[in-house]
Amino acid sequence: MPVLPKLHHWLRRSGSSTTLTMKIKKGDTVKILLGKDSGKTGVVDRVLAKKGKVVISGLNLYKRHVKKQGHPPAGGEGGVIEIVKPLNISNVALVCSGCKKTTRVGFKFEGSDKVRFCKKCGKGIKQ
Ligand SMILES: [Zn+2]
Repeated sequence: MPVLPKLHHWLRRSGSSTTLTMKIKKGDTVKILLGKDSGKTGVVDRVLAKKGKVVISGLNLYKRHVKKQGHPPAGGEGGVIEIVKPLNISNVALVCSGCKKTTRVGFKFEGSDKVRFCKKCGKGIKQ
């Protein structure tokens, strides 16, 4: 995997050991609040729970210049690749599937299951 040498560096930065209650899960629709894609919505592709970050497919893309490798791939001579940079969870807001608004997430118990719900419309958020 010589293509993404910087990714680990980004993932390691601003690492926090605090245990987060995961308000955001894979598959959630979220709105980006900060950064170059601020205001856009996307679907969470990955949650990096320990880092408190989420990866949103197709958003927060950054171009990286790749130097020519000793053994370039076919037709490759270095160039520019786009990688998805994880966003801090605090920089995204969940978009409720019920009321379609950005919302804060609450937690409640249904039986023994802890479920998330929208604080605006009160609807449960799909798990
Ligand atoms: Zn709602």
